[in-house]
Order: sequence, then C-alpha cells, then structure tokens
Amino acid sequence: MVAFVTFSQRRWTGGIRFILDKFQAHLDPGPGAIVRSVDAKLDPRKVNVLLVSHSHPDHYGDAETFIEAMTEGTTRKKGTLVASHSVLFGNDACEASISKYHQRIIGRVIEAKPGDSFDIGELKVRTTRALHSDPEAVGYCFNVPEAGIIGYTSDTEFFHEMEDYYEGVRLLILCVMRPSGSPWQGHMTTDDAIEIIKLVKPEAAIFTHFGLKMLMNNPEKQAKSVEEKTGIPVKAAFDGMRVTMNSKEIFYSMRNT
Ligand SMILES: [Zn+2]
Repeated sequence: MVAFVTFSQRRWTGGIRFILDKFQAHLDPGPGAIVRSVDAKLDPRKVNVLLVSHSHPDHYGDAETFIEAMTEGTTRKKGTLVASHSVLFGNDACEASISKYHQRIIGRVIEAKPGDSFDIGELKVRTTRALHSDPEAVGYCFNVPEAGIIGYTSDTEFFHEMEDYYEGVRLLILCVMRPSGSPWQGHMTTDDAIEIIKLVKPEAAIFTHFGLKMLMNNPEKQAKSVEEKTGIPVKAAFDGMRVTMNSKEIFYSMRNT
C-alpha cells in the first residue's frame, strides 16, 4: 500500500502560527490546523491574517474553518486572507480552494503574486516564487518587527533566482520533502537545500514538510549534514516546535509534513 504523511498524520499538517505582540498570522492551514491550534491554546479567533501558498489540501484544508473563526462565526467582517491566484480563483489545474462565500465574509483579500509586497498590521509580507505542480504556487518572506525577515519556501523545486527572492532572510524555513539522492519533481531534497542555503546565507534554517521517504531517512541527521556542509545552523522541525528569536517566541509549528 502506498503511504503518505498527510493522511496517515505521521506528522502534523496544520501549518505555522506566527505570534507577534498584538498580531497573529497563520500560514498554510492544512488538515488539523483548527484542532492543533485549540490543543496548543492558540485561539483561532485571534488570527488576524491567514496566508495560503497554493491549492493543495495539505496547505489549505482548514482555511475556510479558520475564516469562520476569524470572523467570529461570520458575524464580523474582519481579518485578511492572503493567497495565490489558484487558491482564490482556480486555474487550469484546479478549482478555487476557498469558496466565494468565505472570500466575501473576511475583511480583506489579497492575491499574492511573486514579487508583490504588502503590509498587514505589524507584518510586512513579500511574495516569492515557487516552482510546483500548482503553477501559481508562491512562498513568502515575513518581515517581523521583533525578529527580522523569515522566509518560507512552500512546496517548490530548487531553481536559480530563488536566492534573489530570499535575500536578507535571517531564518529560512524550507519545505524539504525528500532526503539526499531522492529527487521528486516540484519538491526539494536535502541536496537542493544545501544549494539554496549556501546562496542565501541565512543565520539559521529549519527543514519542514517531510515526506515518508524523508522520515525514514532521519530528518535530524539530514539537517545536521547540511549544517556541516554549509556552516549554518539547521534544525529539522518537529510537531509542536516553538521557535524563539531575540528571546521572544515568534512561531509555533503545526506543520511537519
Ligand atoms: Zn503542494
């Protein structure tokens, strides 16, 4: 039987919660995001901005439920949704992933295209390009006042110019689905991660979004090997990982697949 991480839940698929002073953002709320949030005592109603990188369910699965929480059960038109064109409108590969109804009830909708930048509350967001089976997939760079720039590649394969999008990033979060020597179109391996880390030179990097092959090949060991080859600290994400920058907790990871 073919096994996949999302529907075996060998690792969580709920996304990443950024916790700023008076502001919360949730990135890629895949299946279980609401449950993981509530379990971690991170109230989904406190999310000010929801960001979705592309139209695959492990990234958008709980998005509509989040919008209902953010709008207090549809009674208040508030909050912001940032999402790729494919998520909002669909394209040749897929239908829209968030209904028109939910797009209407939220306060503001921003279509994210590579190279765009926008301010939402305390957060400055820059959209990056991702090369994936959803042709309109994007990644994001977040300029967080308390921490500096954090980059998230989303699902992408490595491509030249990628480094330009992540210039100046302090912490780079990479979706490294496959271990060294096991490439899969539209995704990165540990070998690709070495390339991009060498080019971007962040202060630190985190690997996330592990496929089963990666899980069988010890993500911590893969991360360590990249650290040794690049001289940059690299950690493998784990379910419930809390990340602190400038001695303040900046985000909580509910996404390791
Ligand atoms: Zn995907």
